[in-house]
Amino acid sequence: MSQTVQVGPVKIGGGNPIVVQTMCNTHTSDIEATVCQCLSCAKAGAEMVRITVPSLADVENLRLIRDRLRSVGCTVPLVADVHFSSEIAMALPGIADKIRINPGNFHPRHETAREKFALLIEKCRVFGTAIRIGINHGSLGAYITEKYGNTPQAMALAAMEWLEMAIEADYADKVVVSLKASNTVVMVEAYRALGRMMKERGVMVPLHLGVTEAGNGESGRIKSAVAIATLLEEGLGDTIRVSLTEAPENELPAAWYLAERYGLPHPGGIPSPLTERERYILDAACEFGPRLLRGEIEDFESEDSELHDEILQACRKKFYKPEYIACPGCGRTLYDLQGTFERVKAATAGFRNVLIAVMGCIVNGPGEMADADYGYVGEGRGLVTIYRRREPVLRHIPEAEAVERLVELIRQDAAETPLTIN
Ligand code: SF4
Repeated sequence: MSQTVQVGPVKIGGGNPIVVQTMCNTHTSDIEATVCQCLSCAKAGAEMVRITVPSLADVENLRLIRDRLRSVGCTVPLVADVHFSSEIAMALPGIADKIRINPGNFHPRHETAREKFALLIEKCRVFGTAIRIGINHGSLGAYITEKYGNTPQAMALAAMEWLEMAIEADYADKVVVSLKASNTVVMVEAYRALGRMMKERGVMVPLHLGVTEAGNGESGRIKSAVAIATLLEEGLGDTIRVSLTEAPENELPAAWYLAERYGLPHPGGIPSPLTERERYILDAACEFGPRLLRGEIEDFESEDSELHDEILQACRKKFYKPEYIACPGCGRTLYDLQGTFERVKAATAGFRNVLIAVMGCIVNGPGEMADADYGYVGEGRGLVTIYRRREPVLRHIPEAEAVERLVELIRQDAAETPLTIN
C-alpha cells in the first residue's frame, strides 16, 4: 500500500478512497472565470483542482483565486501546474496546496535542474506544500532519452531519480508521482515499471493516474478507462484524472465511476452520476480493456461494433480510424480547442493508420504530442503551426485555413508513402 500524502484537507494514498481530480481550462488571469469553474468542478465532485501558472504574474492570480474560493467556504485543494520555470515553482509554496512539476525541465543542464529541485523541496518544506513529480511521455528531456530512449522504462527511471532526491531530503511523504502518456500501452507499462522500482526501494508514494491528451467523447472516456482500470486492478493508483478535451466538469462522472469501482466508497456518495450510455461504455471498457492490455485476450465479442472497435483501438490492438490525441486545454490554450478538434476529426475521418495531435499551445504542445505523425498546434494571434512528426513544416497558418492545410499535407504524404501508425 502507498503512503499517505496530505494535500490541504484531502488525503491521497494510504488506503484512502481514490481521489478524483480535474483541471481548469480558463485563463488563470481571468480570476472570475477560474473561480466559477473551480466552484462548478467542486460541486460536480472534483476533490482537487489543478490550475496552470504560466507566468510569475499568475502566481498572484492564483493567490486571489484561492482567497476568493476560501472566502465562500470552498476548501478544494488547488494544484499549481508549472512547466519549465523553477522561478515560478519557487513562488508557489504557501499559495498552492500542491505543485505539479517535471524537475527535469527546470534547466537544460541536468545538475542545475537537480539543484533547483533541491531548493524547491526546501521551500515546500516551510509551508508543507505537496509536490507532484509529473513525467510525461514525449517531454522526458535529452538527459534521459539519450540513455534509455523514449520508453516506459525511461519514464519510470526519470521519476525515480527525483523521488530519490525527495527521499534523501526526507520529503517523500509529501510527494505524488504521475507518468502520463497518450499511448495506453506506454502509460500502463511506465506505471508498472515505477511500481516495481518503488517496491525494490521500499518507498511507495501515491500514484496519480491519467492518460494524457485522450481526446473527447466516447473514445476519450474509453481510452482513459482501459488504462486506469488496468492499473487500479493491479493495485496501482491513488488519485485519477480522466482527461478530456471538453469542459472539466464532464470529466468527473467517468472519474467517479472508476474511483468507486476500484477503490473504497467515498463517504457521502457519488456527486456525478453517469448517463446510461456512459455507464454502458465504461462497463465494457473496464471488463475488456484490462484483459486486452494484459494480453490475456486479443479480441472479444460484442453486438455494438463501434464500441468494440473503440475499445480495441484504445488498447492499440486494431486501428479502425485515425488515432487522435488532443490536450484537454488549460489556461495556456490559445484558440477554440474543442471546436477545432471536432473539425479536425471530421476532416480526417477517412484516413487510416495515422496519429493526429491537436494541441492548445506552442509552449508545451510540440513536446507533449509525443509520437504523433501530425500535429496542429495553436501559436496564438489566430495562427497555427502544423507539424510532421517533430518538425514544424507549415508555420504561421491562419486558423481559417489550417485544417485544410493539414488535410492536404496528410494526403500528399500518403500519396508518397503508405501511412503506418507508430
Ligand atoms: S498542450 Fe494543452 S494542456 Fe498542455 S499546457 Fe498547452 S494548452 Fe495546456
